[in-house]
Amino acid sequence: MIGKIQMKIPIVEMDGDEMTRIIWKLIKEILLEPYVDLKTEYYDLGIKNRDKTEDQVTVDAAYAIKKYGVGVKCATITPNAERVKEYNLKKMWKSPNGTIRAILDGTVFRTPIIIESIKPLVKTWKKPITIARHAYGDIYKDVEYRVENKGKAELVFVSKSGEVTKQTIHEFEGPGVILGMHNTDESIKSFARACFNYALDTKQDLWFATKDTISKIYDHRFKDIFQEIYENEYKEKFEEAGIKYFYTLIDDAVARIVRSEGGMIWACKNYDGDVMSDMVATAFGSLAMMTSVLVSPDGKYEFEAAHGTVTRHYYKYLKGEETSTNSIATIFAWTGALKKRGELDGIEDLVNFADKLEKASLQTIEKGIMTKDLAMLSDLPNKTVVNTESFLIEIKKTLEEIL
Ligand code: NAP
Ligand code: MG
Repeated sequence: MIGKIQMKIPIVEMDGDEMTRIIWKLIKEILLEPYVDLKTEYYDLGIKNRDKTEDQVTVDAAYAIKKYGVGVKCATITPNAERVKEYNLKKMWKSPNGTIRAILDGTVFRTPIIIESIKPLVKTWKKPITIARHAYGDIYKDVEYRVENKGKAELVFVSKSGEVTKQTIHEFEGPGVILGMHNTDESIKSFARACFNYALDTKQDLWFATKDTISKIYDHRFKDIFQEIYENEYKEKFEEAGIKYFYTLIDDAVARIVRSEGGMIWACKNYDGDVMSDMVATAFGSLAMMTSVLVSPDGKYEFEAAHGTVTRHYYKYLKGEETSTNSIATIFAWTGALKKRGELDGIEDLVNFADKLEKASLQTIEKGIMTKDLAMLSDLPNKTVVNTESFLIEIKKTLEEIL
């Protein structure tokens, strides 16, 4: 290759924490910077800088994605009480992913990376299954109440003009529990559009499922909004692209998914998506092989790995012990962002490079060179387990052969 590939518009680069921060730097040095004249706008979302900037850096990064359209994010610590102590934080800062998602009004799509030598636990699965999780409302914004004794629970709505509607939830004869939850038409519409757009983008069927036979108003609203938006805005485009939109009941969807070949996007309500994405990730092999992309209804993209900062490996690294952390999902976050930037800006070389880097990553594993987590899953006869950095160097060797 002659000279480095040039970029026009920057990618919003969000650095992160712990082991993934180490990997982040290595990926750039070993696999990206020698080939691409990387143009990024850098935001340090590492926990120390979030603390120092009172989390303003996260908000700034999200607005930068709004401005430029494409971001790539390293895994970050979502602080809990232990982390506040460990890093001597001013506050228990909110999840950066939650903050970015709220600003972009986005939907998260998670897709497993499939390789020949690691067979999914579900034998029929041949293509990846992408879970699209609605990231707003339901039990994640609920109000709960512990009923201690006999009494009546009511659902009360007071309209702006003061009109009161009341329904009995339950007449309690003894202790129990109640919860109230909500969603908004606006959020469900954004979710639906993000799903339809992503299906068109990736040319895959879109499935959506709820429990509308039981939840005749709440879940039914989701079903109706999807159907209306489909009919009015997407039906023709779907037919042109040769893909389908398909609605069914959640229990039917689960049964059909398990018997399917894969290759679809499965849109899930918030809780279903939480549960099903872990099921799909585990059945496909490993969290370290799951990619994640946040897509906003107006077509902004943020790419990342689905896993966290791999704290256990980082503590080993700090002690000077050898680690074998899998960088595939983080590499694919970068290639996803580079490809999208290349598509948007008409830089074919950038798209090709990203494709080749993905190929090189997977071919390296197929050659039998892999990290420890994959060695446990792979059915190749001869496997070489390498450490974190050697794995990237081996990918580079494969990449050099391909280029
Ligand atoms: P995690 O970082 O995903 O790691 C959990 C375990 O999964 C690891 O200990 C490791 O198992 C395995 N694993 C995950 N990724 C791996 C990889 N790339 N290579 C090899 N093994 C991998 O989850 P966690 O330990 O629960 O969370 C750690 C921190 O990450 C937390 O502070 C959390 O807030 C944050 N987090 C961030 C995000 C995000 O930014 N998107 C998402 C989730 C969690 P073994 O130890 O058995 O090898
Ligand atoms: Mg979960």
